[in-house]
Amino acid sequence: MKHIVEIDKKVVARAKQLLAMDSADAAADLFRQAYGVKLDTVGPTVYLRGLVEFSNICSRNCLYCGIRKSNRNTPRFRLSKEEILDAARWTYQNQYGSLVLQSGERNDDEFIDFVEDTLREIKKIGGGALGVTISLGEQTRETYQRWFDAGAHRYLLRIETTNPTLYAILHPDGDNLEKRARCLTALRDVGYQVGTGVMIGLPEQTIDDLARDIAFFKAMDIDMIGMGPFIPHHDTPLADLAESFDPEKQFNLALRMIAATRIILEDVNIAAATALQALKEDGRERALKAGANIIMPNVTATKYRRAYQLYDNKPCLDENSNQCKTCLANRILSQGESIGLGQWGDAPHFAARVNPEKRKLS
Ligand code: SAH
Repeated sequence: MKHIVEIDKKVVARAKQLLAMDSADAAADLFRQAYGVKLDTVGPTVYLRGLVEFSNICSRNCLYCGIRKSNRNTPRFRLSKEEILDAARWTYQNQYGSLVLQSGERNDDEFIDFVEDTLREIKKIGGGALGVTISLGEQTRETYQRWFDAGAHRYLLRIETTNPTLYAILHPDGDNLEKRARCLTALRDVGYQVGTGVMIGLPEQTIDDLARDIAFFKAMDIDMIGMGPFIPHHDTPLADLAESFDPEKQFNLALRMIAATRIILEDVNIAAATALQALKEDGRERALKAGANIIMPNVTATKYRRAYQLYDNKPCLDENSNQCKTCLANRILSQGESIGLGQWGDAPHFAARVNPEKRKLS
């Protein structure tokens, strides 16, 4: 990792201090502090991204993931271009402002062409009105460039963990952390707003690891964070961990990680991941109060949702987009937050990164 980016020891120490605030009182204090930083830097507006999980076909075998290649118990699906466009049109009509396309990882030409073509069609909706994020794993720089040219302008690629030993265990087939980090650099060079994140509470992961993850985000000058709790999936090699799994503890750790990240990174976008809601009914709202400012409501057709289960207990499997919309709006408004309808909701961090003068003036 050293040759990719040097992390700042002072940031690690500060992150560790924040993450250690685990008693009920200290955590409440941490969340209040993070919420204050959120109001000062990105404001109280929650931005939405309609999430289309368009295929669970995957060429990788990540140990934790329910759609890993070797899981023969999940039926494989892919949406047609028209089905993706239907979801995109719904997202536009319902003023979500932005769309996220996510799928299992594929690197073949057919897939790359399909995504490129679909992006071009999406950009025609409302004359290019929708912001478009993609989350399609590790690709070559050339592929990232083609998708950028076709209209995607944000990319989410979680680093998953910055502990190289843990990374190597969780990702067989010779995948490695440096390769993934290099993808983040390539995305940034191409011009994307770059998002990353980790799973929180992985087996053998320590508070030290999480503190170093935050320092990594900072050193990479990341614009967006998407991270959530690790939750065992029954059809993966990590299924046995379900026995000792403590949802309460895992949830609290995830919330502290979000809060510490907000306090240290300040003006980035931070998503309240759906996985938080798998652990606690009001998990995503609680994350908004601990520093998150983005929610990604599922807009995938209901019939496909069950087959896109990365972890157990995924919420909203039987709901449709309209139900998710109403439910979520109520949840957000109940927190006293407002929704940035019809807006892209880019992270102020990105604007400041590409135009440092702006930061000085504000
Ligand atoms: N293939 C794409 C995106 C799909 S996976 C990619 O690799 O970027 C999206 C994210 O789901 C992963 O980055 C991982 O962090 C998360 N995920 C997978 N399995 C999980 C589990 N069991 N618990 C929690 N999060 C999980």
